Amino acid sequence: MPTVASLVRVGRVTFGKGVFAQKSIEPEMVVGQVTGKVIDDANYATSYCIDLGGALSLEPQAPFRYLNHCCTPNCRLVLTECEYEDGTPAPSEVHVETLTEIEEGAELTIDYAWSAEGAIPCLCGSSQCRGWVVDKSELAKVRRSARKTAAPVPKSPPSRMPRKPR
Ligand SMILES: [Zn+2]
Repeated sequence: MPTVASLVRVGRVTFGKGVFAQKSIEPEMVVGQVTGKVIDDANYATSYCIDLGGALSLEPQAPFRYLNHCCTPNCRLVLTECEYEDGTPAPSEVHVETLTEIEEGAELTIDYAWSAEGAIPCLCGSSQCRGWVVDKSELAKVRRSARKTAAPVPKSPPSRMPRKPR
């Protein structure tokens, strides 16, 4: 399997950083494992953390810390359940897998699929942009609450990793 370093690099985007392909990558290919610190705290929430199930979160390191959201993403995160040698459950591993072919120099993106409560306006620029960084199934909920109140203003750049849909 090719190493992460050979396939992607972190680069600048208008609102921060992003992950870019160093060479073209085939569809349905594992780009690499998202490594980082596993935190055992049900209340843990940061801009980038990935929900591993239960009380566990993964605080990812570069390069995949900087994966941005797009409503028509070219990658997805895949969680693999793991166990220790004695058979007890271990924290799941997270890998980045391509959905479509990615050309050299193109940015890698994922669908954050946030719940409606965490949704912020989306600036991904896709022709099929949903207008919100939110899971497809939660979009109707966001639109309903957006009509009642003013559209929320994002506090930070849209660079969070997805939480598992609730
Ligand atoms: Zn969008």
